[in-house]
Amino acid sequence: MHYVYKKAHHTLLTLPKSLIKSLLNNFKPIIANLNQSLQQKYMIIMDLMNCRLSQSKENVPIKRKKQMRENLMKIKFVNKGIEMVNLSRILNLRDVINTLPFSSVNKKKRAIPSICYLYNPPIRSKVLNYSKVLKEFKLDDEESFPSCECDSSEFKDPYHNHVITGNLNLIKNDRLRNLLSKGWGYREDPVIRWKTVKKEIHHSVIQLVHNMSKKYNMSQAHFYNFGWKIMEHVEYQIRNCKDRYEYKTKFVPVLKDQSVLKELSSLHQHYVLTPVDKASKNIAITCKAFYLKTIFNELQSGEVYQSTGLSEEEIVKMHHDFTKHFSFNQLSEFNTIPSIYMIPKFHKNPIKFRYIVASKSCSSKPISNAICKGLAKVREQRK
Ligand SMILES: [Zn+2]
Repeated sequence: MHYVYKKAHHTLLTLPKSLIKSLLNNFKPIIANLNQSLQQKYMIIMDLMNCRLSQSKENVPIKRKKQMRENLMKIKFVNKGIEMVNLSRILNLRDVINTLPFSSVNKKKRAIPSICYLYNPPIRSKVLNYSKVLKEFKLDDEESFPSCECDSSEFKDPYHNHVITGNLNLIKNDRLRNLLSKGWGYREDPVIRWKTVKKEIHHSVIQLVHNMSKKYNMSQAHFYNFGWKIMEHVEYQIRNCKDRYEYKTKFVPVLKDQSVLKELSSLHQHYVLTPVDKASKNIAITCKAFYLKTIFNELQSGEVYQSTGLSEEEIVKMHHDFTKHFSFNQLSEFNTIPSIYMIPKFHKNPIKFRYIVASKSCSSKPISNAICKGLAKVREQRK
């Protein structure tokens, strides 16, 4: 399948769009008469064609030259109330701009800050449990693998005889199913709390005044009027929004709903939720016993990994001691050994797995980064 996809992709890139259009029209009636396995193959090619056609010049947004702003106002997106206040409008109001302590109008305009929202983390850490499962499980005693009830499950994979599925119908709770169908990168909207909105904006305005006074080498007092004026408009806007959007504040986020949490916890008890290979925002549900056994076998296979009697602390210390020979400092943030997890490849028949070794704060990271940079230099000089 992968070969067909690659070949089609390559061919389609070189064909004129008019030809692709006529091919697409001819494809549709032919596909309807094919059996299901072949249909899937052609659907992918049709997707590619549609994608290529949509890349026309009219669809490419015209890039406007970015207006250079001298200041940035960072603000945590604590809830949607932040958006409703519409800070960007407030910052561009004439009476707000006029409070800036510059005589030149152009300088005032350049000093109007751009807004930069800092978003809450996505649902990933709450719904995917693969790291937790491995951390809680000691992979050294085969007999301690949990049992499972996959045999009677309609979601059992016929080849592996365990549940390995991307079919979210396995989840009974509608709200949880709906949330997971949005992928692990989705961010839930927290309940709108106007007090939090005001507090957060106030905090950002204080920071902004501090940064601007530093930047222009002027005392903070010069920017107090500017800060007050912003807050005056913010408070007025919040009062307005409160009346208009009151009904929305009654909403309970999915991951705060007790029935959802109950089902999620039971799901985590029996299954491992991971991303999916080649569709990484999707969520796969795999039987926990099967998941642990498969990783155990991979680690035991002897091809890549070796078992050791050393503890994590001892390994980290060995790495740090070695790295210090090369005058590396700030090793304290690299104090773990990598962890392994696997994600299913649903596009393979039978389903296969991709093993991933995550080494975000791995103790050997500083030295591997340095070697990588060194090798890049060598490659550059050999060109
Ligand atoms: Zn199972």
